[in-house]
Amino acid sequence: MRKQYLHLSAYACDVCAGPVITGAVAVRENEISKETDIRQVGAICLSCGHRQSGPTEPARVRHLLPIEWDAPSANGTGHLTTAHQQALNRAELH
Ligand SMILES: [Zn+2]
Repeated sequence: MRKQYLHLSAYACDVCAGPVITGAVAVRENEISKETDIRQVGAICLSCGHRQSGPTEPARVRHLLPIEWDAPSANGTGHLTTAHQQALNRAELH
């Protein structure tokens, strides 16, 4: 059964040394298959909001356990698309 997993990891922020949390989603076609379609979904420092896309050496990256993430991407994408289209519509009105 096809499942999507969210992988979170944490490393130190370059700006404030706070925790940067980074996320990636990957799809596993079944229990024994390797994960495919890995996509980064963003990274942000929880303390200062700095968007640091990767750890700076010699920072240690701590990986959290993968979380089953069944939120249908159609929902998320549809929502984003809708918001984007609304913004476009508003822009056209003014
Ligand atoms: Zn920071």
